[in-house]
Amino acid sequence: MSKSEEFDIIFIGAGPAGYVGAIRAAQLGFKTAVIEKRTTLGGTCLNVGCIPSKALLESSELFYQAHKDFTHHGIELGSVKLDLAKMMSRKSKIVKDLTDGIGFLFKKNKITRYQGLATLVDSKTVHITDDSNEDLSAPVILKATKAIVLATGSVPNELPSLQVDEKDILSSTGALSLDKVPTSLVVVGGGVIGLELGSVWLRLGAQVTVIEYAQEVCPFLDKEINKHFKRSLEKQGMQFITQAKVIGFEKATNTAMNLKYQSLQEGASVKSVLCDKILVATGRKPFSEGLNLEGLGIQKDERGFVKVNSHFETSVAGIYAVGDLILGPMLAHKAEEEAVALAEQLAGQAGHVNYQLVPSVIYTFPEVASVGVTEEQAKAMGLPIKTGSFPFMANGRAKALGATEGIVKIIAHAESDKILGGHIIGPRASELLGEIIVAMEFGGSSEDLARSFHAHPTLNEVVREASLAVDKRARQI
Ligand code: FAD
Ligand code: NAD
Repeated sequence: MSKSEEFDIIFIGAGPAGYVGAIRAAQLGFKTAVIEKRTTLGGTCLNVGCIPSKALLESSELFYQAHKDFTHHGIELGSVKLDLAKMMSRKSKIVKDLTDGIGFLFKKNKITRYQGLATLVDSKTVHITDDSNEDLSAPVILKATKAIVLATGSVPNELPSLQVDEKDILSSTGALSLDKVPTSLVVVGGGVIGLELGSVWLRLGAQVTVIEYAQEVCPFLDKEINKHFKRSLEKQGMQFITQAKVIGFEKATNTAMNLKYQSLQEGASVKSVLCDKILVATGRKPFSEGLNLEGLGIQKDERGFVKVNSHFETSVAGIYAVGDLILGPMLAHKAEEEAVALAEQLAGQAGHVNYQLVPSVIYTFPEVASVGVTEEQAKAMGLPIKTGSFPFMANGRAKALGATEGIVKIIAHAESDKILGGHIIGPRASELLGEIIVAMEFGGSSEDLARSFHAHPTLNEVVREASLAVDKRARQI
């Protein structure tokens, strides 16, 4: 006998899209259920993404500073030792606290949680199977009166020549749980994951080489910022091989491999790098296996993203999709905003996502954070612009922190002065970007930022000085 229950809205997947959307739906009075196949809530972001990576970035940065920087402050520590097991268990505790916290939020908001694999039966019915359910012929059946929301996220891209085993050849998940610092790590793919996780292991003592197919790493960044970024990572010891195609690998010894690659320059010979671990970080792809999209005729594009209209509705009425599963930047905050906007639209409100202002952050040191258009994009769009930049080097707080690398760059419309883009490389760039986003959301100008109070001494003063520099009136340089 199968068990059947009825809800207003059913979310499939409990990542940032599913769990935040469910909370908003419950706040709006909908009877809400979430189905998640993992035993823990929070999806990729909390379990094997944003949170564990930031925990390790923070710990490894402190380890690096203890080694290299504390002495400049007059602090002599003697020998600094790494306890990797403890660093990993701190990371796991942070993940556990946050994923358990979602369970608490579900209870508080009266959201019903189901653990198991969700499969669509029709536009109103979902069937849940669970490995722990011994009677698979009696699945749980859920009915949705208002909407079924697909929020099943994404998984890493695979490279046929480098099959991930999470032992020698790692995905981001394996690279977040190593029990030993590699002697030499090759990162295939110089995107956000490659540079963040490459930084973690570099700071902990690994030699790190990044092999990137494109002409430069992170080509989506403003060119001026990207130049600073690459120089800074190189100074820290990260090595880059760009415009190169990975061919495969050979075992060199029991513990070492030769990763073979070929430069994309014509006539280039095959070369190799000796390493003991390879991290494959060549992007992620939408995940919809097991949902039975084909059975219902739900359309996907050629890359597997579920097609939706401007109200997140798929090609089947009553079934919606949000987050990494649909086109757009694969970011937790974009997933959350979409799910919240959808819940509000289903409640008859004007839920909206401002795709022009999705921020992007790389949590390396220095951090890189940007919003809006780059200088190159503005020029390609034919927009008349003026730009202002200011270095952290000339900021008192940055000097006190001992973190003076980087700049803030503001791009404004040449006539209206409206801010079109903000780009930061520097200490806590992720946090500093916030004021630029808020100013842009309100249609603010560089003068608005320049005329607002900024406490002294703070890193935010660099944002203000960059805004003043748009009209060539920076004061502190
Ligand atoms: P997901 O978080 O992938 O959640 C989908 C959930 O659906 C999963 O838990 C999955 O188990 C479940 N599911 C799938 N199919 C079914 C099914 N049929 N039945 C039941 N459950 C199902 N983004 C940022 O914004 N900032 C960062 O700092 C950041 N760092 C990252 C670091 C790493 C290493 C990685 C890998 C990603 C990072 N991201 C970051 C990206 C971020 O994790 C994703 O954009 C975000 O998790 C997408 O949310 P989502 O809810 O769409 O999907
Ligand atoms: P990415 O798209 O950022 O970078 C992948 C890189 O791999 C690209 O530069 C690409 O040119 C390169 N590449 C692809 N195939 C290759 C090959 N065969 N050989 C060499 N290089 C190759 O993807 P990612 O770094 O894997 O991250 C996946 C997603 O997760 C991104 O969309 C990102 O937004 C998200 N993420 C975000 C954060 C953050 O916000 N801080 C952190 C981690 C991940």
